[in-house]
Amino acid sequence: MEEKIVRNTSLVMALLVIFICSSLCYLPSLEAKAQQYVAMHRQLRLERQQREQMWETLSGLEFLDYSTRQAMTTASDMTSGQDADGTEGLTFTQQLRVELPKNVSREQVTIENHHVSRTIGITIKGAGADYLVRYPMLGRSDHIEELNYFSDANSGTLELVMEHVYELTLDWEDRYLYIDFVSPRDIYDRIVVIDAGHGANMPGAIVDGVQEKDIDLAIVKEIKALFDATDDPSLGVYYTRLDDSDPAFADRSGLANDTKANLFVSIHNNSYVDLSSVHGTAVLYDEKKSSAGNSSKHLAEILLNKTTVALQSKNMGLVPGNNIYIVRTSEAPVALIEVGFMTNPQELENLTNPEYQKKCARAIYEGIMQALEEGY
Ligand SMILES: [Zn+2]
Repeated sequence: MEEKIVRNTSLVMALLVIFICSSLCYLPSLEAKAQQYVAMHRQLRLERQQREQMWETLSGLEFLDYSTRQAMTTASDMTSGQDADGTEGLTFTQQLRVELPKNVSREQVTIENHHVSRTIGITIKGAGADYLVRYPMLGRSDHIEELNYFSDANSGTLELVMEHVYELTLDWEDRYLYIDFVSPRDIYDRIVVIDAGHGANMPGAIVDGVQEKDIDLAIVKEIKALFDATDDPSLGVYYTRLDDSDPAFADRSGLANDTKANLFVSIHNNSYVDLSSVHGTAVLYDEKKSSAGNSSKHLAEILLNKTTVALQSKNMGLVPGNNIYIVRTSEAPVALIEVGFMTNPQELENLTNPEYQKKCARAIYEGIMQALEEGY
């Protein structure tokens, strides 16, 4: 029994001696590793201090370029120091890399793409005022017109104002979000832009407390419901507004021009204060661009026929509309529908009726689909 204990003890001792001896052989390299680690942390601290200073003076885009150059330099330094770890994440092919703060998950990130203003908002819960200094966004500034960062007590928002309308491609990897920008034309074969007239402080006509902007928007929302149910991945539909906002005229036709839309349809309602008996549907077109194959005039004709038949409203005919800014500046074939006269009591009642709005939306939707089938 005692002999066994002695034998086991010497075995343990022998193993311990072997372990210590072999560890000693590694000590120099362990020490080197420790030194490297300390140097790396000193370097990272220094870089963060530099970014802190730069953040005060540079614009958002300049700061992106600065941070990216800084990270690339560090990465190449570390590679030459035979520590490839530092290059991790800097070899990405996507345009931008957003880093999440520690303890923030991807579910706490919301991304909004506001096409009409070409503005993308990336809101990160828990990102504070110094977020970009601590977790710099890296990548290329191509096609970004402006880069801003705002924060409040709960979250921080990166705001990217783009030169053009883009869709986003997002790739997550650990705490990194990689972003690429894709032109709508690279995604969709056909693009339709729909505009609800007026909005916000510009209500359009007001009759008996009813504001034109609300009728226009209600019809557009019904049109959207129909397109959403269409489920055709080759067809892209953009809206100048889906809330009570008032996009600039230039941004409304700009959305159609920038997306190279196949057609642009604007929804309005008429008024004629002097004579309440006037009623009916009219469609404006661009008479200066009406001779080409897929003309503004023919599009207006299709939509006028569809709506007057569906609504059984009086056909008030096609109206030259080149004097209207969004009609004149649209590069795509354009039609501006004046669904009805709010100053006519019967028509106002119809226009505020959800069933009538739905019927109108379906007629416009079918008209658009017919135009696309005809090759617009
Ligand atoms: Zn209007």
